[in-house]
Amino acid sequence: MKKNDEFEVTVTDMTDEGLGVGRHEGFTWFIKDSIVGDTVLCGVTKLKKTYGYARVIRVISPSKDRIAPPCPVARQCGGCQIQQMSYEAQLRLKEGKVRNALMRLGGFSQEAVDQVLEPIVSSEKQFRYRNKAQFPIGRDRAGRLSAGFYAGRTHDMIPCEDCLLGAEENRLILQAILGWMEELRLEPYDERTGKGLVRHVLIRRSRARGSFMVCLVINSDRLPGERELVARLQELSGRDGISIDSLSFSSNLRNTNVIMGDSYVTIDGTPYIEDTIRLPGGEDGISFRISPLSFYQVNPEQMERLYAGALEFAGLTGRETVWDLYCGIGTISLFLARSAAKVYGVEIVPQAIEDARDNALRNGIANAEFYTGKAEEVLPRWYEEHRGSGSAGLAPDVIVVDPPRKGCDEACLETMVAMAPDRIVYVSCNPATLARDLRYLCDHGYELRRARPYDLFPQSVHVEVVIQITYCGDRAKNKG
Ligand code: SAH
Repeated sequence: MKKNDEFEVTVTDMTDEGLGVGRHEGFTWFIKDSIVGDTVLCGVTKLKKTYGYARVIRVISPSKDRIAPPCPVARQCGGCQIQQMSYEAQLRLKEGKVRNALMRLGGFSQEAVDQVLEPIVSSEKQFRYRNKAQFPIGRDRAGRLSAGFYAGRTHDMIPCEDCLLGAEENRLILQAILGWMEELRLEPYDERTGKGLVRHVLIRRSRARGSFMVCLVINSDRLPGERELVARLQELSGRDGISIDSLSFSSNLRNTNVIMGDSYVTIDGTPYIEDTIRLPGGEDGISFRISPLSFYQVNPEQMERLYAGALEFAGLTGRETVWDLYCGIGTISLFLARSAAKVYGVEIVPQAIEDARDNALRNGIANAEFYTGKAEEVLPRWYEEHRGSGSAGLAPDVIVVDPPRKGCDEACLETMVAMAPDRIVYVSCNPATLARDLRYLCDHGYELRRARPYDLFPQSVHVEVVIQITYCGDRAKNKG
């Protein structure tokens, strides 16, 4: 076989990234855009010693789970890896992903996993659920200014101003920005030359207020044409009823694929957008201010269910001391604080910690304290500095962690084990690193108790999981 050769294969499995897997002539093939149960004609795109990559040329016999993707550019865009799968099948795939990770990477037995793993919590909205979008700005093949996505590894923009996962208003906001760029002859950023101004547009929607935050990521320290931009966006409110609460820009002069810069400058409205999170069956909502650089979950309805799950697994009665590591703007921390004696939050992004402190204050929550820094540095340092002080933070009842995809650093896990809380609640967006970290914690005195996946990202292969592990080791030994 060589590149571009064609062959027929039946897909029997799927990778965590959403590629179909099939066997042909002793080779394992990873086939883009195919799903389990498909028989496809595919073309070789890359060949290795014992495996290869291919792409679907034609579906010969479709899987019973195959549907026509609603988005016309689903295949080219690649943002949705499994739009061609029925929602039921997507949910099964994600449950399987969690199960496999726990068994294969975490070394938990099938019985142990069967005992704890609950069915995935599905999302009512399967499209238009995202409250955040980041559109690259560029030129399409014909040279027209547009917002969309880059096709494969090319530098040509495929225009797509109405991503079906996001708000319908995004399109009008983008058009206003493109209109402003045309009026002032402002160039989009070009990765190849490092020239041009506008790199990305970040749009965030507040569900509670129905309003928007817009942040332009630019390749400059200053934004020309501010006044004209403000006017363009203000027009939207009169004409289309779209109100923009916050308009800012963030300078990113680096030639990397990190989207946002390190800081931002507000040019109109507030330096944040405000949203309210109300837990299902819970008390009053808590309102949050979110600045452009802060993390905020993208699927608000599912976020509320996820946090309710984390709170349930934390099992608070009002007397507990809790650490919330990777706390962002304090979303989980403030709900914990309402049901605990004291909460300590740790987060690496300074703007997010400013938001967290402000959010606590504005919601009248006085028992939450926040630290800026890496969890793997702040926690061990705090532990050393407070040792012997008798502070309740040294021996918390619960530790909640919600790390990014790479999971927790071992230095962080080590201190968590030394603190030996009764319960650890692990909120994860990556089953592989979750399983790795759970293996460490379960080798150091913890036992897997609860596991509940949540679908926060329909049409994508991503899955969120909340885990509860409880302490069953020898405390005296750990604390020695
Ligand atoms: N719990 C929050 C945020 C979760 S996202 C929420 O649900 O809203 C993960 C967060 O971890 C992000 O805010 C990110 O900025 C932060 N982060 C990434 N690496 C970190 C590290 N090493 N130490 C502490 N925080 C980190």
